[in-house]
Amino acid sequence: MTGRMQDSPLTVGTLLPAMEKWLSRKTVTTWRPTVDDPAATTVATFAQTAARARLLGAALDHLGIPLGGRVASFAWNHQEHLELFLGVPASGRVLHTVNHRLFSDQLEFILDDAGDEAVFVDGSLLPAVWSVLARSPRIRHIIVIRPDPGQRLPQDPRILTYEALLDAQTRPHPLDHADELATASLCYTSGTTGRPKGVAYSHRSVVLHALLLLAADSFGIRESDVVLPVVPMFHVNAWGLPYACLMTGAGLSLPGESPRPAGLALQMEHDRVTMAAAVPTVWRGLLAELRPRDQSALRLAVCGGGALSDDLATAYEALGVTLRGAWGMTETSPLVTVARPVDADAGQTPEARRATLSAAGRPIPLVDVRTLTESGEPAQWEADVAGELQVRGPTIIDTYLGATDSALTPDGWFGTGDVATIDGTGLVRIVDRTKDLIKSGGEWISSVQLENALMAHPAVSEAAVTGKSDERWGERPVAWVVPQDGSTIDPEALREHLRTMVAAWWVPEDIRFLDEIPKTGTGKWAKTTLRDLT
Ligand code: AMP
Repeated sequence: MTGRMQDSPLTVGTLLPAMEKWLSRKTVTTWRPTVDDPAATTVATFAQTAARARLLGAALDHLGIPLGGRVASFAWNHQEHLELFLGVPASGRVLHTVNHRLFSDQLEFILDDAGDEAVFVDGSLLPAVWSVLARSPRIRHIIVIRPDPGQRLPQDPRILTYEALLDAQTRPHPLDHADELATASLCYTSGTTGRPKGVAYSHRSVVLHALLLLAADSFGIRESDVVLPVVPMFHVNAWGLPYACLMTGAGLSLPGESPRPAGLALQMEHDRVTMAAAVPTVWRGLLAELRPRDQSALRLAVCGGGALSDDLATAYEALGVTLRGAWGMTETSPLVTVARPVDADAGQTPEARRATLSAAGRPIPLVDVRTLTESGEPAQWEADVAGELQVRGPTIIDTYLGATDSALTPDGWFGTGDVATIDGTGLVRIVDRTKDLIKSGGEWISSVQLENALMAHPAVSEAAVTGKSDERWGERPVAWVVPQDGSTIDPEALREHLRTMVAAWWVPEDIRFLDEIPKTGTGKWAKTTLRDLT
């Protein structure tokens, strides 16, 4: 016998009715500070946001973007980006949020791989990405969001401005796209072999993930919250926070263009922010700025995207703020575990409690986690042995965009490339990483790509790249270089060469010269040996 309940699809458009009715007066604040007024903001109600998203949907029809068509955004966290989060998927298109910090080659690759037809770009980011957009013939429309007054836009028939586009629409879109398995949004992650890989979130996974952020034992986002996603909207939908807020009526406080620690601290005090989420590097930078400010409203400070160190957690404790760890990946929507105390933690010493709250945390509902033993078998539950962390659930990837093979193990689990332990209370601790990537300030550096760039220098015979821990950035790359016979290489000249091939922030400060790179039995770089040398 089948159940007899309504099988309403779980789609982004289902967020709209509440935004237009009982949550209509809730607000989204965007910080747009100026020299004269560091606290300058624009405020829109949920009803206004929904209305503008409907105009955006109509505009995409007007531009001839087909159902399933890809629409890219190069944008900071602000009102217009939020409108794109709603109007693009809910009208049946796919929102591809792009990290503008990537190098131009990577940007070109992902715009092409995604098949983007229209691009929405902040006026302030346009100069940085223009050369890539100008070279991409598939892009039919370039819509500039809030160009600076007086900004001269390139002479290109594809360019128009966001406000002009919305103003030209008279019939709001119903935003009723009903296929819950269709792709709502798309985000690229760094592939270990060099090329970024696309992760296509379904409407269903976006809605389920947003709902999970409302659970009391995850973030417990509720109507009375004011949420500040410092994490960029181009990183895994800002960890799903905007959708969770719109779903439940929590206020959003968006940091706008190029957020800086001093501005963020002011914003948190001014907007009485109750929940904020950021990577460890940002929390570290914020520490001194938060100290003189009133943070009494802050109930939840989530630190994810990288390991939360004991010294950072302790420094925040002294401020009266408890940082809580969380673990996730682009492939996992992202939230899988949140650090939270449970009954079993009763009576912990302050140190043990801090260690619990700084861990990756415990699984949220609907996901399952396991580790593998050294022999590749699933570890016994409660084994607390280190092994590859694997995850599964309705918010976890199945297949990368464009791939024919599933990304899962034959028995349906996604291998994360992180090494973890899981104790009997479900507490996951990340202890290492098997994937050959370096995470610096919350962004990936591909060791393989950096090695290839180093080896493209004519005086370099061999090169390997490893990560080393760094107080500010979490990790920084170290380059190990073997010069061609007899040559000497000026490290600064090598850095200059790298700057032509990779993003400036990838370039290693630390370059070490060797006669030979140590190798494993199978001839690969022995990176553990190299790491031990740092
Ligand atoms: P991304 O796909 O860019 O979100 O990166 C996900 C990766 O960041 C994970 O696979 C981990 O390697 C790392 N990461 C995320 N959260 C944590 C955490 N709480 N502790 C340690 N590493 C983390």
